[in-house]
Amino acid sequence: MYSTEQLRAWDKRHVWHPFTQMQDWERDEQIVITRGEGSWLIDSDGNRYLDGVASMWTNVHGHCRRELNEALKAQVDRLEHSTLLGLASEQSIVLAHRLAEIMPTGLERFFYSDNGSTAMEVAVKMAYQYQTHCGHPERSRFITFRNAYHGDTLGAVSVGGIDIYHSTFRPLMFDTIQAPSPYCYRCELGCDSSTSCGMKCLDALESIMKEQAATCAGLVIEPLLQGAGGMIVQPPGFLAGVRRLCDQYDLLMITDEVATGFGRTGRMFACNHEDVVPDIMAISKGIAAGYLPLAITATSERVYGAFLGDYAELKTFFHGHTFTGNPLACAVALKSLDLFESDRLLEALQPKITRLAERLSDFSRLPHVGNIRHCGMAAGVELVADKATKRAYPWEQKIGISVCLEARKQGIFSRPLGNTVVIYPPLCISSGELEQLLDGLERAIRAVTGN
Ligand SMILES: *Cc1c(COP(=O)(O)O)cnc(C)c1O
Repeated sequence: MYSTEQLRAWDKRHVWHPFTQMQDWERDEQIVITRGEGSWLIDSDGNRYLDGVASMWTNVHGHCRRELNEALKAQVDRLEHSTLLGLASEQSIVLAHRLAEIMPTGLERFFYSDNGSTAMEVAVKMAYQYQTHCGHPERSRFITFRNAYHGDTLGAVSVGGIDIYHSTFRPLMFDTIQAPSPYCYRCELGCDSSTSCGMKCLDALESIMKEQAATCAGLVIEPLLQGAGGMIVQPPGFLAGVRRLCDQYDLLMITDEVATGFGRTGRMFACNHEDVVPDIMAISKGIAAGYLPLAITATSERVYGAFLGDYAELKTFFHGHTFTGNPLACAVALKSLDLFESDRLLEALQPKITRLAERLSDFSRLPHVGNIRHCGMAAGVELVADKATKRAYPWEQKIGISVCLEARKQGIFSRPLGNTVVIYPPLCISSGELEQLLDGLERAIRAVTGN
């Protein structure tokens, strides 16, 4: 055992944290997590923090859930890893078989990788190569959305649309066609509300497709919810509308369910809400319940079939990662699917989702809460300097970060997206813990925005 002081010192000396200004990090005192238990993280001094962001949106059944721990331990005594390059392995087979039963109908071919970004790289390359096999090498571009986030590798960044993360790397990125974000609160097309707006953003998307579809392989979308863009919830019918347009203009629809998959929206997958079946779908974060890195790019028989041919035809999908189909991760993912059933997790979520909605409507009375966006067990509370004009707090003011630091004093760990406070607990969170999380965040918002 090392002392907290020792761990902090070595961390500051050697660990480069993601999405972090390390100058700030090195200056401040940091929490060192050493244990987890249900919805709680426990630091090296024994302090407890409610995990308000489900450990970067991955945690489903809680930390150190006994059944998952046992599944992992049982697997590690049988096989820790064997490659999918040239060999099959038991757990990856069984998991694919199980997933075929629960995925939107028709998605039954699964390509394994190990994180959300790689799942999206695979999706983009797969879509383009599919078009080349169909005789359309000129269909090389992708339609994407502003405020989209699909990961941090270069292909994933190219199809993303968050300027503050992506603009530095512009010279390294491939060109895409960006459609307006369905961000109703700040609608770039000047619409007023999500219910009566008539979704001009769909019309804008159609105009883009009309002109450019012939040069495009597909469209990339986070269904229902643009997560990292600020928990931006799409108006009802938007996703189904996008599917309709993709059909009409013969584009592959790629849905990124890395964040939304595995119960987060209240259904197993976000696409289920509007009965949408994409052509390609990426899943990761919640798949192994937050235990281990695992990802899948799922597709249809039609896309898969286009890659079949004589060896010399070079139709092989030349892509693969060393740890694809890792048996430990697959074993945990399988046990997680069991727990979805035995805990009746999706049913148990419904009253929590209703309660979350009730509590959030109280938040909207706060003078600096401009907009509240809610989808299942995910929510974003956008803070504004001026509610009447929707004037944003300058980003340098770090208002979201201040709220989270304030919440931390009350034993809550949260991480904002710019000026948006994020609510994204493990799906297993109890009703009491959910109240505690919301009480803490409300108090923190009041304290920081001054009322
Ligand atoms: C987190 C995320 C990714 C990237 O996943 P990583 O595992 O961090 O590479 C991609 N898409 C969405 C929607 C995400 O939320």
